[in-house]
Amino acid sequence: MRIVIFGAPGVGKGTQAKIIATKLGIPHISTGDILRNAIKNETRLGLEAKKIVEAGNLVPDDIMAGIVKDALSDKLCQNGFILDGYPRTLDQAKLLDNIMQQLEPDNEYYIAIEVNDEEIVRRLTNRLTCKVCGSIFNISDLNDTTICPKCNGVNSFYKRKDDDEGVIRNRLLVFHSTTQPVLDYYGKQNKMIFVDGSLPVDKVAENVLSKLGV
Ligand code: AMP
Repeated sequence: MRIVIFGAPGVGKGTQAKIIATKLGIPHISTGDILRNAIKNETRLGLEAKKIVEAGNLVPDDIMAGIVKDALSDKLCQNGFILDGYPRTLDQAKLLDNIMQQLEPDNEYYIAIEVNDEEIVRRLTNRLTCKVCGSIFNISDLNDTTICPKCNGVNSFYKRKDDDEGVIRNRLLVFHSTTQPVLDYYGKQNKMIFVDGSLPVDKVAENVLSKLGV
């Protein structure tokens, strides 16, 4: 199964992608994670992308093309994948169409998770990530603990630079102006499956999996 998951920043697409990947035994390819790792490791890509990502803008399509071709041509993706964070522009969607056309037909699913903007701002300004295991938490669920409930990492929480309110509002603006047309592009072809992302995480996951028929 090849799944592409869409949604504005903060709708929980990364969390849902991880659940689906585990359930189906396919790799989770997150272009945001790839970029954040490159930034952390100060690779050439990371140095190029740092300012753009931290301001909540989009990394140019030609750079993203290299990343996505590399990731999807990996042997691990041979039996399927869940792609999270790509495509975000119409040109990226056309490149992905080309890649998909070379693979087994009729095994593609496009899912959009939907949440309203004010709920997104509320969620993201309260979001912390564990730098050891990558799990995401809401500050209020942590009850002031500094130990990660998932991996027991000590003092491992950090707030993503692009989770500041001004940057979040810019990311939402970029989503509505540039990525919404991509959702419309797949919607017009009747390929898009829409899921309400305002429900609890496990309920959203249940709805996604049921719409995928698994
Ligand atoms: P995400 O974790 O998917 O929200 O991505 C975090 C950031 O990485 C985005 O705000 C962009 O700056 C950058 N990014 C991730 N995927 C893409 C993409 N497909 N095209 C351009 N920029 C991207």
